[in-house]
Amino acid sequence: MYTKIKTDDEIAAMRVGGRILATVLAIIEKAGEAGATTKELATIAINELERLGGKPAFRGYGQPPFPDVLCVSINDEVVHGIPRISTVLRKGDIVSIDFGVIYEGMVTDGARSFIVGDATKQAKQLVATTEKALYAGIDTLKAGVRVGDIASAIQKVLTGGGLGIVRDLVGHGVGHSLHEEPDIPNYGFGGSGPVLQAGMTIAIEPMATLGTHAVTLDDDQWTVRTADGSLAAHFEHTILITPRGYEILTQI
Ligand code: MG
Repeated sequence: MYTKIKTDDEIAAMRVGGRILATVLAIIEKAGEAGATTKELATIAINELERLGGKPAFRGYGQPPFPDVLCVSINDEVVHGIPRISTVLRKGDIVSIDFGVIYEGMVTDGARSFIVGDATKQAKQLVATTEKALYAGIDTLKAGVRVGDIASAIQKVLTGGGLGIVRDLVGHGVGHSLHEEPDIPNYGFGGSGPVLQAGMTIAIEPMATLGTHAVTLDDDQWTVRTADGSLAAHFEHTILITPRGYEILTQI
């Protein structure tokens, strides 16, 4: 389904859901200390989500059905890591948390990477540059923006930072379902691609590496990791396009 122009009521629901999502991600990040397991982070996510009145969007999604409410991806894992009681966070890890919320039937999607304790300068730069790329993409948004305008703004920041850009996974429309058309790649040419309109809601999500673009899929059929074993980072917001700009929905 191509992402639709949302009604005022639908946008209001996504605003609430997005705020819940951002609140939960902030709580998880605080809990993400050395010694915590990724399963503990997922348990916090579902408990806080239910306390705030939202429902999880990831559990049961896809084929095979994603088994949890939160994706937790560490170091060379790019996205879609499955929470496990056996996976323990260590000082210096890059932890990427990706969360989807349903509120009054509307879906929001958001992610961020953080570092456990302290890390190398390179790891810190990877995380900071990937976040900067997300905001560069967001800053292009207004009615009439083309997907290639977003993509090229993201690419410029990531390439400028000397990072690899993951190509196999992309941003997307969101709202009535978790993944709506069009795809929003993290590389491309300005002035190309579909035109987006005010009232559409999209998820922009740069995924970058300290190595190449190439990724592999684990035997669990979900965990995506860098083919060369390099570190990866991931940031994502759900954003409403407005006549003259945008509104980030997945923030507090
Ligand atoms: Mg997404």
